[in-house]
Amino acid sequence: MDYQALAELLFPNVTMTPDELEEKFPPRNTPEGAVITRMAPSPTGFVHLGNLVQGLTSERMAHQSGGVLFLRVEDTDAKREVPGAVEVLIDTLKHYGIQFDEGATHDGDAGNYGPYRQRQRADIYHVYAKKLVSEGQAYPCFCTEEQLAAMRETQEANKENTGYYGKYAMWRDRELDEIRAELDAAHPWVLRFRSTGSIANQFKFDDLVKGKLTITENDVDHVLLKSDGIPTYHFAHAVDDHLMRTTHVVRGDEWLPTLPFHIQLFKALGFKLPKYVHIGPLMKMDGTSKRKLSKRKDPELALTFYKAEGFPVKAVYEYIMTILNSNFEDWRRANPDAPAEDFKFSPKKLNPAGSLFDYAKLTDVSKNVISRMDAETVYSLLLEWAQEFDPDFAEKLASDKALAVSVLSIGRGGKKPRKDLAVWKDAKDYMGFFYDEYLTAPTFDEKFDKATIIDVLERFLAKFDISDDSAVWFDKVKALTNEIGFTTDMKAYKADPTAFPGTVADVSTFIRQAVTGKTNSPDLFTVMQILGYDRTVARIRATINNLK
Ligand code: GLU
Repeated sequence: MDYQALAELLFPNVTMTPDELEEKFPPRNTPEGAVITRMAPSPTGFVHLGNLVQGLTSERMAHQSGGVLFLRVEDTDAKREVPGAVEVLIDTLKHYGIQFDEGATHDGDAGNYGPYRQRQRADIYHVYAKKLVSEGQAYPCFCTEEQLAAMRETQEANKENTGYYGKYAMWRDRELDEIRAELDAAHPWVLRFRSTGSIANQFKFDDLVKGKLTITENDVDHVLLKSDGIPTYHFAHAVDDHLMRTTHVVRGDEWLPTLPFHIQLFKALGFKLPKYVHIGPLMKMDGTSKRKLSKRKDPELALTFYKAEGFPVKAVYEYIMTILNSNFEDWRRANPDAPAEDFKFSPKKLNPAGSLFDYAKLTDVSKNVISRMDAETVYSLLLEWAQEFDPDFAEKLASDKALAVSVLSIGRGGKKPRKDLAVWKDAKDYMGFFYDEYLTAPTFDEKFDKATIIDVLERFLAKFDISDDSAVWFDKVKALTNEIGFTTDMKAYKADPTAFPGTVADVSTFIRQAVTGKTNSPDLFTVMQILGYDRTVARIRATINNLK
């Protein structure tokens, strides 16, 4: 077979050579050890936690080493593409702190190694396709869908491996004339790789996450170019990651089964193999067993979920770090205020079997993150969230910034900051009572009769002075408690609860409920200071009236 003639027959218009491309995209000028890596998502419109895990791993590896992170859009499957998906992807990843140094942007491409959208790279793939054909390493296949289905049926019936290999590779060794006749008849064709591998052979391979792997050679003549001339993932991966000078491929481990083919393909093309970082799946507990997070079953897989719940970006970021590198938590404890980027991230610490996603843990991390923010930051992030997800609350927050900031300052700062908020969604329940429209009427414990509660509230009002400090304020509450025959001695009460009609805690709860509508609230003295004399008194009076 004259492979050169076949190459000309299949790709008459390809005049560029691999050498020219090598020259156009020279090795990068980065320091020794710098990681050049990429995110290469398909623009399906769904950005999920897995993207973030992969993005964060790539981003840390690149930027920690003084390397480059770029965004390549893998849009070869036009059927799956959703309009605007690339923009959503760019914005979402940026929102989560993943900054690309080059690649696809809102305004086209940025960087010298583009185009960064695969559909714009058809000419480039064809240069290498032509090269492989001219070397006898690839050939056209004119099989129809029916023929392929029949082949599969035979293989299944014979209990053989399925696929286009060995004796099943119908177009592997056809004559040039036969191929020409098919082309003349305008029959569609795909370009296949001519595998020289055998499943009888194995070799060792080192993956940065999975460790040492034993790999069986690939013997399937996989498709390189589809009938529309667009490459498959495999071919595009080899060509793009070579020409873009990727040193590390960080991707999901669903690609492990085709890794043998990728290794083979890099070799066939004369490309240096990058290092691979195959990330295991994100899992969750379902009853007593683990399972992969699923797009269909688990709303928490979508990144939009975290935004709507109101998890600060930083919390999601820190949580992902926690599940990727188990020593991150200890580091964070020792360095509570250091930027997360100071942590030395290592892909080797990723669990090869995947990571367990734990919502309760995320909530804890988020509480910690929010508790370490200053009130102004909390205010602006909360307001931003509310503007999108609770406009009415946003209006309240914006109408009196000073009030909101003083509320959000309660218990903040100091060694042990309060952890009242895990997500912005919690905020309305936590502080809504400061706004009269959100104040709800209290439901008092039926154990106490109304007259007692009214008595407590009236006695409190009679002595209430907004200029009291918290010690004096509480002394008055205690005095009142004793006056009505309740006790301030909690020990004695615990020893014999029947000896007292109630305690100072009950008295405080009556007052708290009258002022906030709730049995739980931030520090009551501070709440009153923020509400001021008039509003505090008005609320207590209104409660008394309702009880009468
Ligand atoms: N487009 C592929 C995916 O979304 C990219 C895998 C890779 O990073 O190479 O899974």
